[in-house]
Amino acid sequence: MASTAPSGPPPSGGPVDPGLIEDLVAASRILAAEGVLDGYGHVSMRHPGNPDRYLMSRSLAPALVTTDDIMELDLASNPVDARGRSMFRERFIHGMIFKARPDVMAVVHSHSPAVIPFGITQVPMRPTFHMAAFLYRQPPVFEIRDVAGWTNMLITSNHLGAALARTLGENSVALMRGHGNVVVGPSLPIAVFRAIYTEVNARLQTAAIVLGGPVNYLSPQEGDIITNQEPGDVGRAWNLWKTKALGK
Ligand SMILES: [Zn+2]
Repeated sequence: MASTAPSGPPPSGGPVDPGLIEDLVAASRILAAEGVLDGYGHVSMRHPGNPDRYLMSRSLAPALVTTDDIMELDLASNPVDARGRSMFRERFIHGMIFKARPDVMAVVHSHSPAVIPFGITQVPMRPTFHMAAFLYRQPPVFEIRDVAGWTNMLITSNHLGAALARTLGENSVALMRGHGNVVVGPSLPIAVFRAIYTEVNARLQTAAIVLGGPVNYLSPQEGDIITNQEPGDVGRAWNLWKTKALGK
C-alpha cells in the first residue's frame, strides 16, 4: 500500500478570537462542574475560520484546561502545532463527526453515567421534559463490536470515528454501548446545553420508569417545535455556567 502520510503538520486555519478560545475552556470546565465530564471526556469546537480544522484541549482532565492547552487539529486529527503535547486518544470522534456533519460546530464526548443504561438495555432514550426536547430524534446506539470485534471500547482511529459518525447520522446524540455518548450542536453553548440535559434526562427517564406505568414522553411534534421552531434562550444558562466555571 502506498504511503499517504503527510510530509509535515497541516497548516493552521488561522488565528482564533481569544474570546472563543476562552469559551472552549469554559465549556470544558462547565461540563466537569455539571458532572458530564470527570477525569475523562472532551469537548471540541470547529475552527471559526476554516471548517477543515477544529480546536480541543491537549490530553488533560477537563476541569484543569486553560487557554494554553487548546490545540488545533485537522479533520484527520493531526495536530497543527503539537509542541510535544500529548493528545486525547479518542480525538478521532471529533474529527470524523466534523467531517461528516458540516452543520455541527461543537462536539462533546463523555461517559456521563446516567446515560449508560440506555446503551446497554433495550430501553430507548426519550425526551421526558422540555429541556431535553432535542432528544425527539431517538438517539441511536453505536455498537463497536459490529465494526471492530473485540476492542478496548475506545474510538482510537479515524476508521472507528467514521463508523461512529455514521451511526450518529443526523441526530444530536448517539449512545456508545458500554462506554458513553457523543453530543453535537450548531454552536458550542448548544452542544454543552445538550450534553448537560442528556445526562439530566437520563436520570429523569429512569425515575419515571421506576415509578411505573406508561410514561408520557414529549411527542416528536413537541420536540420539533421546541428544538427547531421556538428554541429557548440557551445564552442565559450559558452565561451562568461560564461565570461560575471561570470564577468571574
Ligand atoms: Zn470515551
